[in-house]
Amino acid sequence: MHTPRQVFKFGGTSIGSLEALRLALQHVRAAGPGTAVVVSAMSGVTDQLLDAARSAERGDLQAADRAASDFAARHRALAEALLPEPGQILALIGQSVEELHAMCQSIAVLRELSPRTLDAVVARGERVLALGLAAALVAGGAHAVYVDATEIIALTPLAGGLWPDMAAAAEAAARLLTPVLATGGVTICPGYIGRGPAGQTLTLGRGGSDFSAAILARALGAERVVLYKEVDGLMTADPRAVKDARVLGELHFREAAELAYYGAKILHPRTMIPLLAAPGRPAIPLFIKNTFNPRSTGTRIADDAA
Ligand code: ASP
Ligand code: MG
Repeated sequence: MHTPRQVFKFGGTSIGSLEALRLALQHVRAAGPGTAVVVSAMSGVTDQLLDAARSAERGDLQAADRAASDFAARHRALAEALLPEPGQILALIGQSVEELHAMCQSIAVLRELSPRTLDAVVARGERVLALGLAAALVAGGAHAVYVDATEIIALTPLAGGLWPDMAAAAEAAARLLTPVLATGGVTICPGYIGRGPAGQTLTLGRGGSDFSAAILARALGAERVVLYKEVDGLMTADPRAVKDARVLGELHFREAAELAYYGAKILHPRTMIPLLAAPGRPAIPLFIKNTFNPRSTGTRIADDAA
């Protein structure tokens, strides 16, 4: 039987606290089999890791160590609250933090922070969280499998930049995700990261886990992508500036792309590209939903919107 496939992505605030994580887990459990989950780092974590690296670059190892210890404490507390047997995840968090301390030390000695090192530092925010969520789902009896995004998303040089190799992503998704999804399971991938041409871990740019979700959706031939955020959907205007800003129920990819470019800050501007229709493949609709508001219907973005 064909199980519908969908990609759920949880943004920083949607997983930024214990309560939020519990809600996110409920959304995943309620969705049932055939769901590939993508997570960003918890809110504030990417900034904190960037801070650690930049403090080290300035030679301020104390500040770097403080950031690293905060990172560790925040994730340890969650693992302990969420998991009946947190031992394995606590060990992984410990490894990640040791590596972070070591990297900060090298950065401080060399007083040099390359883009590649910075990416390697920040990638751990998504990874520890995805590992923890997978463990929480397994502890709850689900068939949940962590798959590292660098196994699926390979970035290759294109037009002066790097772009995901979609054919390679489809092949990897068929090998690593589909068997789990087709047998009633759930996969959990860290968003925001991919593999560079030299095999190194790279990031997709700030807010890039939306893009990760879209890449995986295309690779899987998914029926929809749902981005869980802390807002009810895309709005007609910035609600902080315009009092009667409303949620847009539906909009065309084109309009959503414009909003993203004009700084709506809700969607990573590249997100729509993998979702567009092309010869032989339909478009994949994108939904924005509020993790915290089950009553809101959210925004649907597709190519058949009026
Ligand atoms: N954690 C990353 C960031 O803060 C990626 C994301 O949130 O999508 O930019
Ligand atoms: Mg984030």
